[in-house]
Amino acid sequence: MDIRIASITYDSIVDGPGLRNTLFVQGCSHHCPGCHNPETWSVDAGDIKSTQEIIQQFLESSNKSVTFSGGEPFEQAKACGIIAKELRENDYNLWSYTGYLFDDLLKDPLKKEFLKQLDVVVDGRFILSKRSLALDYKGSSNQRVIDVQKSLKQNRIILYQKPQKTKVEKYQLYI
Ligand code: SF4
Repeated sequence: MDIRIASITYDSIVDGPGLRNTLFVQGCSHHCPGCHNPETWSVDAGDIKSTQEIIQQFLESSNKSVTFSGGEPFEQAKACGIIAKELRENDYNLWSYTGYLFDDLLKDPLKKEFLKQLDVVVDGRFILSKRSLALDYKGSSNQRVIDVQKSLKQNRIILYQKPQKTKVEKYQLYI
């Protein structure tokens, strides 16, 4: 199957915790004022790739953390779901950004299928008046960083908790 993408970035430090490879999909209907990636809105721009080609590129990288961004990954849910399923089977840690709300994703079978492959989803549109640079992993305070697997299991929204640093890791920060 094909997917329309804007780009792939390797070892990004701004798309989730740690260094992550990021797939920027092309096309987004949300058109949030103040969006940092308006060039990804058009469904006619970008490049068409096969999902297998994208999977292969990620599998060849030593980085096993992948983020879906955009653009709107859930507007190409079938293709993103195929990529995510294969990476999940290879023990990748998977995050996705979306302008949709978690509950909306559950109502659409293809979106739900993609969602089920993820560790974390950051949901909700970017709202300029709620923008803050102090927020972890999100651009505006209305957005939620959701632990997908716990939320699906408990049938309610469980927010992602950053892992606590061990004493050794804290000590290493100072040497
Ligand atoms: S959902 Fe994301 S990519 Fe789409 S317009 Fe909003 S901020 Fe931009």
